[in-house]
Amino acid sequence: MRIILTTLHSKFIHPSLALPYLASYCAQDDHELIIREFTVHEPKEVVLAALLAEAPEVIAFSVYLWNRSETLELVDLLATVQPELRIVLGGPEVSFDGDALLTAHPGVTALVRGEGELPIRALLQVWASNSEPQAVPRLIWRRGTEIIENPDGPFLADLDTIPSPFSDGRVDLTRGFVYYETSRGCPYRCSFCMSARDSSVRSFSMARIKADLGLLLAAQVPRIKFVDRTFNYDPVRARELLSFILQHNRSSHLHFEIGAHLIDEATIALLEGVPPDTFQFEIGVQSTLPATLQQIDRHVALDRLLANVRALRQRTRVNLHLDLIAGLPGETVADVLGSIDTVMDLQPHQLQIEPVKVLPGAPLRDDAARLGLRFDPNPPYTVVGSETIDFNGLEQLRQIGRLLDLTWNSDRLQGFLSRLATVQGSWSAALTALAADLHRQGAFRHPLSQTALFQAVAKHIEELPQQQQAVMREVLAYDYALCERVLTGGETDFFDTGLNATELDAVESAVGRKRQELSGQGVKLQHFAAIFYHLDQGKRQVRLFYYLTRSHQPRSIEVEILAV
Ligand code: SF4
Repeated sequence: MRIILTTLHSKFIHPSLALPYLASYCAQDDHELIIREFTVHEPKEVVLAALLAEAPEVIAFSVYLWNRSETLELVDLLATVQPELRIVLGGPEVSFDGDALLTAHPGVTALVRGEGELPIRALLQVWASNSEPQAVPRLIWRRGTEIIENPDGPFLADLDTIPSPFSDGRVDLTRGFVYYETSRGCPYRCSFCMSARDSSVRSFSMARIKADLGLLLAAQVPRIKFVDRTFNYDPVRARELLSFILQHNRSSHLHFEIGAHLIDEATIALLEGVPPDTFQFEIGVQSTLPATLQQIDRHVALDRLLANVRALRQRTRVNLHLDLIAGLPGETVADVLGSIDTVMDLQPHQLQIEPVKVLPGAPLRDDAARLGLRFDPNPPYTVVGSETIDFNGLEQLRQIGRLLDLTWNSDRLQGFLSRLATVQGSWSAALTALAADLHRQGAFRHPLSQTALFQAVAKHIEELPQQQQAVMREVLAYDYALCERVLTGGETDFFDTGLNATELDAVESAVGRKRQELSGQGVKLQHFAAIFYHLDQGKRQVRLFYYLTRSHQPRSIEVEILAV
């Protein structure tokens, strides 16, 4: 049979992992399997034409939170144009749907619940032999006007029975980004998460992981994102894999989702050897309130988690991305602000704050009515209110999340935000006031240039106590020169560039020395100098910013304080 495995990504760079795994598993039988990937932004007629041009007999869609509506529209259209086509849906977003979905979308021939390899392969075998799939587990299917729901069945016991899609050449390594998994399932049961339904963890064998991962590292794939739900669920196993990566990595950047409470001293010691810009850990803190963690069945040792994050920050160069969730049952705005204060004190590289999603299949969804959670009935099922937080409260927290994304999480204004937290008495007070001000200015409504963002933040300084304004203006200016290449004559009004003759001479000499130091290294040097009065105990200082550009490398910035 000729089968297309397809999905609609949110961005083209996101390559599918599910489709190559399915293709490698099903290719053990005699089928023609074609992977086609699109984005939700492409017109459906264009996707439709591309799919039909392949003359498929079956099209299987992988359905996620971000593509449900677009996929179902496309399915309706496909079935109208070519009614005899067999259309299969699978993926996390439809795994908890029932026969109602097939009733609402008559073009859908079958729906697979849960992990796809076993049922899809069995379904294709049955169709290839012109039989009916009544024995295929985890399948809802159509026979004429009848919709039949088959019983549940096990998942693959041995993940190694899936031939490697990496050595098969089914994964496109040219996009600069690859998803990779070493295990499936999670031992935890956080009630907001779909993985809570399956607390067993299955791992590929160590030999198989090292073979696949070795291939990706040798190919120098720029970014490898591990999709394991908790990569370090077994600390000894995780340490062996991290050692392997450190030994074989040549230039890849690797992203892991980890449980910070599970990290031990031996792992932190190992991670001290991670080079800069190589590892990123995504760590779900979610809340720092023990009562909330209890309520959502998230049984982690919070003190150990926070202590380990602190140790990772102080002793390693691993980039730390922390997550908090707003709108969890029982939490007020003040509770979430308290969590923000605790987490920002750890100085993560990024802090993401998002309202909880009440996902189909997650235990929280079953309890939503009892807990008084109200949520968007359509994807992404975001909470819009609870008994302890209303929509405006959630909006306030969402704005703080947006502010952090535009500033702290993008390596901008970090000095300014830290100083503002001191002035306002806490991180949460600083972020709340600044986010409200930027919201009033309309700064969250449209994409802003970097300069426009700094200008909007500069307006907020006028709201601060008079005696703080001068120093805050300088901190802002300093941050600006650290992320924007400022050139003399093109500077904004953030800066005092009134250097006297002695200071100008000192700048000229310093730049001359720098040019000599860099000579022959193929570096383009640009510079900018300004006067600062408040950054070092009221001393007038000239700070000289060097902007260094090397081919094929991001621009780097160095700062020299001139003793004049
Ligand atoms: S939130 Fe993370 S730790 Fe909790 S069940 Fe889901 S995957 Fe596991």
